[in-house]
Amino acid sequence: ARPHRDLFYPSGTAPCRHKHNSSIRIMQWNILAQALGEGKDGFIRCPLDALNWQERKYLILEEILTYRPDILCLQEVDHYYDTFQPIMASLGYQGSFLAKPWSPCLDVEQNNGPDGCALFYRSARFSLQATAHLRLSALMLPTNQVAIVQTLNCKVTGRRLCVAVTHLKARSGWERLRSAQGADLLQSLCSITSQGGSSCQTEVESGTIPLVVCGDFNAEPSEDVYRRFSSSTLGLNSAYKLLSSDGQTEPAYTSWKIRPSGESCSTLDYIWYTHDALSVDCLLNIPTEEQIGPDRLPSYHYPSDHLSLLCDVIFREGPHRLM
Ligand code: NDP
Ligand code: CA
Repeated sequence: ARPHRDLFYPSGTAPCRHKHNSSIRIMQWNILAQALGEGKDGFIRCPLDALNWQERKYLILEEILTYRPDILCLQEVDHYYDTFQPIMASLGYQGSFLAKPWSPCLDVEQNNGPDGCALFYRSARFSLQATAHLRLSALMLPTNQVAIVQTLNCKVTGRRLCVAVTHLKARSGWERLRSAQGADLLQSLCSITSQGGSSCQTEVESGTIPLVVCGDFNAEPSEDVYRRFSSSTLGLNSAYKLLSSDGQTEPAYTSWKIRPSGESCSTLDYIWYTHDALSVDCLLNIPTEEQIGPDRLPSYHYPSDHLSLLCDVIFREGPHRLM
């Protein structure tokens, strides 16, 4: 069975232990591309059997359906058209997919096409205002990483929300590329959330549509790209810091795997949100080391090497109310 995870309500938030009726549930998850898991990753402590797509896909769907997010942001999706798009559509979601330009999945024999990012929203909750499919640049040069940005209208509150999903360049040695990709994404988000009105040069002119950015940043909190996001003029905070007792510390891991090169336990995935426009009502706890188990991830019990992140956010009252 998948590990049981409780919802955690950060102190200072409403103590009502049921889903706030205007809260928006957001899930971020790198689901592990089927072609990479079977053909490239080298998860030496995970039996190949546990990676069989016909069973693994149900573990992924079970995880999603357990929490029924209003917004679902995925990375490493290489079964969009044959699996996630039709199934999520039948469950009332509208999806968008953007493949990586040169997906490493294509190097794997019998691949199912390129992997990429996918963004789903629940059609009962949101209507679509605009979509941007971005290929991230670094120092003006196009890279192999992408992002999807959608501006949504919330049918419950009448407010607008901008949502982005991305998957930055992996591996050590690529910190500067990740940082440049992050800078490029922030610049695009700035112009999208400011509705073309201002140039985002100062705090005063910073974006006015509340923003959520979900991603596998492939970067620990010590990296430059993390600092760029936490100090940008967009006023972003990382939701999962609110799990910590001081509210300032990221979880110890969001990904835990064993490759021939060794064990890797690291915090790479984030949900960023505009902190003066949105507040976090609750977050899904990170499983313990015991729950993850000695062979780490993926496993028969959990289908990806990355954990899903999930939080409920609420629009704050205040100046943003005018939106
Ligand atoms: P990345 O370095 O960003 O990584 C791609 C994937 O590999 C990620 O999903 C990542 O997972 C996973 N990964 C990370 N670390 C390891 C590891 N140690 N072992 C195995 N897998 C790992 O790749 P790029 O997007 O930059 O693409 C690089 C690849 O793309 C090349 O290897 C080549 O196959 C292909 N390519 C082909 C081109 C062509 O002309 N045909 C041109 C450019 C690229 P996670 O994010 O979960 O860490
Ligand atoms: Ca991966």
